[in-house]
Amino acid sequence: MAMLELEGITVRFGGLVAVDSLSFGVREGNIHGLIGPNGAGKSTVFNCISGFVRQDEGSISFRGEPLVCEPHDIIARGIARTFQNVELFRGQTVLDNVLIGLHVAGTANFITGAFQTQAARKDEERLRVEAMKTLEFLGIAEYAGRIAYGLPYGVQKLVELARALALRPSLLLLDEPVAGMNLTERGELAAVIRHIRDEFGMTVLLVEHDMSFVMGLCDEITVMNFGRKIAEGTPDEVQQDPQVIQAYLGEDAGDAEAV
Ligand code: ADP
Ligand code: MG
Repeated sequence: MAMLELEGITVRFGGLVAVDSLSFGVREGNIHGLIGPNGAGKSTVFNCISGFVRQDEGSISFRGEPLVCEPHDIIARGIARTFQNVELFRGQTVLDNVLIGLHVAGTANFITGAFQTQAARKDEERLRVEAMKTLEFLGIAEYAGRIAYGLPYGVQKLVELARALALRPSLLLLDEPVAGMNLTERGELAAVIRHIRDEFGMTVLLVEHDMSFVMGLCDEITVMNFGRKIAEGTPDEVQQDPQVIQAYLGEDAGDAEAV
């Protein structure tokens, strides 16, 4: 059985069906890609898994148990995510942005922290070390004391990744992790994601619009268009699928017309 299982998920926004009877599974230890043209419904699927949007139909299970929680319960079950549009506390330092994530996860620490007992101070120090280690791992420790606002977009994306990673989730959800990055940065991030899986044993589900990025990285890919699953399989299989080619070509043609 898959670690994460989506079964017949449908999400409607008014008259619009953003996700239409979607089913797929993510196997433990895989890097799984969810791809498709803009507007296909990918982020909405992420929002369902992470508790920001409730599906109208269908069910989601994680390790065989239903997943019907609020965002912070999801974290407690070992799932962490990043957002398509970087969501940082822009006036806070990079280190604090990572620490805030850890505090949200351990609400009890946050409350006892207010009393500043010796134990709480020790806890705070432990979290700080944990956060710094994560920043070092991602190669952005030099930015720890810098205010997030105004940092290069690529760095901000890594800070958000650090915040999710510091929680040591068993399932990491990444929404368009390389959007806005150049080719070199994309290559580096692909290596980081591989490392996250291989060294930390995390399972990764990533949403991407860029097909070329996921091809060399993912073990398995689910392709969506207009809310529906149009293909799934290995990168080679989906790359050769006529429906997938058509979906992406159709989108290019649309873009060309718009210019
Ligand atoms: P993707 O991430 O694949 O680009 P989204 O999941 O963001 O696609 O969006 C799928 C469709 O649902 C789009 O047509 C989008 O405009 C619509 N949509 C997404 N979120 C909302 C919302 N909160 N309210 C209304 N429509 C939405
Ligand atoms: Mg999206």
